[in-house]
Amino acid sequence: MSTSRYAKPIARLIEELTKLPGIGPKTAQRLAFYIIENSIEDARSLADAIIQAKETVRFCSICFNFTDATECQICSSTIRDHSMICVVEEPRDVVAIERTREFKGLYHVLHGAISPMDGVGPSELRIQELISRLSDDVKEIIIATDPNVEGEATAMYLARLLKPLGVKVTRMAHGMPVGGDLEYVDEVTLSKALEGRREM
Ligand code: ZN
Repeated sequence: MSTSRYAKPIARLIEELTKLPGIGPKTAQRLAFYIIENSIEDARSLADAIIQAKETVRFCSICFNFTDATECQICSSTIRDHSMICVVEEPRDVVAIERTREFKGLYHVLHGAISPMDGVGPSELRIQELISRLSDDVKEIIIATDPNVEGEATAMYLARLLKPLGVKVTRMAHGMPVGGDLEYVDEVTLSKALEGRREM
């Protein structure tokens, strides 16, 4: 879309906003006008928040979720159940499961799923890091990858890898819409899915 009808700085702002996921030209224009019509303080605060998040947020050295410390709050918590690790594809999946308040264990974020079509193999994911977390304290690995082709392939791969190591491997299943995306599943369904996990 041509942005020449805008003053140059507005065109630039719209162009940047359009790069964000889910933001089309119309929404970008609405956001840009909103920012311009509001105070300079609000604009600065937004810009600062973006830069600060980008500069300070990194991966937890244990679970690879986002954190601003070496270890995230969940991994360093003493009241969480360290005998259970829930394996998810993305940091946003941790947020979705935390919203249910059902799960008290730890997480492990793979940062993707096995997808030969997209050239993503096991070595592209944080699988070795998961293996290295296994100790006598870890009793169960709950695989909560998405209920689609890639997520299922990843779950199967992990089960084959983990079971010989003597850890109980379960798969979140019950009530999950097939082909879906974990982050969009409602809280009740997600709670039920955790409750109804089956051994692999
Ligand atoms: Zn962590």
